[in-house]
Amino acid sequence: MTQTIAPLRGMNDVLPEEAPWWQLIEAAARRVFARYGYREIRVPILERTSLFKRAIGEYTDIVEKEMFTFEDRDGDSLTLRPEATAAIVRAAISNGMLHNQRHRLFTMGPMFRGERPQKGRYRQFYQIDAEAFGYDGPDIDAELILLSARLWGELGISRVTLEINSLGTVESRTVYRDALREYFSAHEGSLDADSRRRLVGNPLRILDSKNPALAELIAAAPTLEDFLDVQSREHFEGLKMRLDMAGVPYVVNRRLVRGLDYYSRTVFEWTTDALGSQNAICSGGRYDGLVGLLGGSPTPAIGWALGVERIVLLMQALEVPVSAEVPHVYLVMSGSEAPAYGLGLAEKLRSQLPWIRIESDLGGGSFKAQFKRADRSGAAVALVLGPDELAKGAVVLKLLRGAGGQDECSLPDLPARLTALVGG
Ligand code: ATP
Ligand code: MG
Repeated sequence: MTQTIAPLRGMNDVLPEEAPWWQLIEAAARRVFARYGYREIRVPILERTSLFKRAIGEYTDIVEKEMFTFEDRDGDSLTLRPEATAAIVRAAISNGMLHNQRHRLFTMGPMFRGERPQKGRYRQFYQIDAEAFGYDGPDIDAELILLSARLWGELGISRVTLEINSLGTVESRTVYRDALREYFSAHEGSLDADSRRRLVGNPLRILDSKNPALAELIAAAPTLEDFLDVQSREHFEGLKMRLDMAGVPYVVNRRLVRGLDYYSRTVFEWTTDALGSQNAICSGGRYDGLVGLLGGSPTPAIGWALGVERIVLLMQALEVPVSAEVPHVYLVMSGSEAPAYGLGLAEKLRSQLPWIRIESDLGGGSFKAQFKRADRSGAAVALVLGPDELAKGAVVLKLLRGAGGQDECSLPDLPARLTALVGG
């Protein structure tokens, strides 16, 4: 026997049974984005490795150990995007979108990270991503957060907490970085290998460590709050005031630094207590320096990304009802002439009744087998087409739900009957 080909670890198939959750989430996101004036942008899945190295930062989990990087046939180093922001900034620069312009954008699609697969953590996963360019001040920070909160509302999601923090400007962070380096250097013996490397490269990243042995040391480290510049403080107070006014509760988490280097000022994360350790469902922040870092003219910017798989898991954990689109009508056929005739009838009905979903039983089989499939399809009505009906120019209309029952219906009467029975 020919051997089958195994799927790749951490890369999932979304089967038709799961798809309704995905469709619901994506449709809700599109609807909400449209209501706030966010327009869709689509960027490639492959980019030059240098883009992510420069944007995300050398001393981050993503760049140090999670990227799918390979050489193409010309020897150029390419990377499957681990996140969307860097690629969107690259696209905005390469398409000249940032000359005194403002943009509110969104995208959705797969991201790739070589992580250890577990529940809620995969190697190919999907993000929905929002980015805004050209907006100074805390208004846009608040709007992006309110937009995400509205999305939770639309999706029936509860048990989420908003954590916010300010990382200050690049300058205030440099001062803080020196203070951290001094602090962790004094405890170098207690650090793990990752943290020791980051001590030299970027000590802020040590705060992002998930190693429980370091938790106590990290908890006692100096906090960024004491190093924040005046403008960043005002910006953060402005954001808090706007969230208060909008009635969106939040927790200030001074340890929230986020796993990417490019953030400045506002950072935030939505977490849930319903999913175990993969508890971050949506994360984001301001990245005023990134456009400049990637060669564009300095442009304030901010964005967030949510993980679709974790939202699906959360909706399932919360038992949010999701209904699949079942057919209205299932077409059962018998005799050698019925299928060709039935295909034509179904087409005609689809033209006459644009809302109708008809599933035809193609490929043959006994009446019994066809009715079993009709039942499983979830359709409310079966139309039966056999030699007798063909001869008469009629169909048998059988109710599959409720009290049941069947009668004959002439073809001219059929659209009106179906509209009355299952019309939406
Ligand atoms: P975590 O702390 O869980 O590793 P992260 O800080 O790496 O998350 P981001 O890079 O900010 O996450 O990505 C935004 C969102 O994408 C996360 O909040 C999460 O919902 C989702 N996400 C990140 N990595 C994965 C993954 N490997 N599998 C599934 N979803 C993910
Ligand atoms: Mg991560």
